[in-house]
Amino acid sequence: MQALSFNDLKDKVCVITGGAGVLGTAMVKAIASVGTKIAIADINKEVADKVAAEIAAESGAEVIGVAANVLDKESLEFAKAEINKRLGPIDILINGAGGNSPQATTKVETITEDNIDNLEDTFYGLQMEGFDKVFALNFKGTLLPTMVFTRDMLANRKGVVLNVSSMNSYKPLTKIPAYSAAKASINNFTEWLSVHLAKVGIRVNAIAPGFFITHQNRFLVMDEKTGNYSPRGQKIVDNTPMGKFGEPEDLQGATLFLISDVSNFITGIVIPVDGGYSAFGGV
Ligand code: NAD
Repeated sequence: MQALSFNDLKDKVCVITGGAGVLGTAMVKAIASVGTKIAIADINKEVADKVAAEIAAESGAEVIGVAANVLDKESLEFAKAEINKRLGPIDILINGAGGNSPQATTKVETITEDNIDNLEDTFYGLQMEGFDKVFALNFKGTLLPTMVFTRDMLANRKGVVLNVSSMNSYKPLTKIPAYSAAKASINNFTEWLSVHLAKVGIRVNAIAPGFFITHQNRFLVMDEKTGNYSPRGQKIVDNTPMGKFGEPEDLQGATLFLISDVSNFITGIVIPVDGGYSAFGGV
């Protein structure tokens, strides 16, 4: 038997939404390293182009930046036409765009007798605008790109979708109800779509990253003044059996595994990449 490899990914075409972000960049690097052609579809075209150029130069793979808003179907269709023209039919989609926002975050963790007279800081003070934005970005922002970017896979009767969930999908963290509910919906949608597409050769899975310090959560886990972990950041580390935040590169193995033919009989699953966080009961 030949040694297992990710050679099947060479010259395939992969689109990654939000690929210019911290975790997305690490995933793009891994995928480029096995010779896949990649389109970084990001709302921030300037950064997408920059990341694409850097990774292309480093890896020798064809990597391009494409402007796309995951909440706007027309913009996604426009992006698909450009990707098809420049790279060919799409084989793989990674739904990486997502994140939380301070506007959808409660100021306090729980309501107690000390703060019950200041409901603005709690669930009752959440602004629907922020809540809607976060829910849409994480759920609809996975749904719409999947509708648009899997069309070539459907025609080829072969393809892969990889969604990006979170630890919040299993057990919600305090303060971030919109993000938690939206990521729970990603797990459910991953299962639903995997069944819907199983007979036409398209696999649908997800990874659930544990805790990585990135733009979207720095304000929650770091103390800007001291540069140390905030009490919340420290709590995360204390509840991660490996005793640390993850490095973006830690997502690379699970990503390649799930998008490659080596996981041919795997669909509808969510793999935690979390240093043991989801396995730990806290005691
Ligand atoms: P990030 O903020 O570094 O990157 C997000 C990227 O998405 C950015 O490049 C941004 O420009 C792009 N984006 C935002 N809105 C968009 C839109 N409407 N259309 C297209 N692109 C858009 O975030 P990250 O930390 O790298 O997170 C990547 C994914 O991983 C997200 O889905 C996030 O929820 C998830 N995640 C992150 C962590 C963590 O600890 N950072 C943990 C679990 C899951």
